[in-house]
Amino acid sequence: MSILRHVQTNRCPKCGESLVIEEKVGYSYFNGQIHIHDHVNGHRDETRRFACGQAVSYSKNFREEKVETAGYTCLRDPERIEKEKQKEKLEEDVKNFIRNHELPEDVKRSVASKLYIHLEDD
Ligand SMILES: [Zn+2]
Repeated sequence: MSILRHVQTNRCPKCGESLVIEEKVGYSYFNGQIHIHDHVNGHRDETRRFACGQAVSYSKNFREEKVETAGYTCLRDPERIEKEKQKEKLEEDVKNFIRNHELPEDVKRSVASKLYIHLEDD
């Protein structure tokens, strides 16, 4: 049974995962007691996180659910996986461009280091 009142999403919108690994409500600890922050409108902040990493939250101020887009996001999101592949490809292309350049090795290493790129094979 869920502790959440407002979050309705019960599957990750990106991959369909239904296993919930975390549920939270906004609260504070004061005078030896837990106080759940209920807004005057009766709503409260809530978060549900699925096993794929994706979180969905509800804001008591905006009274709407939103799919988190930073931090707690779906590790199986096809768009994310594609973006990661594109980044790896671009990094590899840049590495090869620098490696194959005719400038001296120390100059290439210096520039690569500025770009946080390691020219040596891992
Ligand atoms: Zn997911």
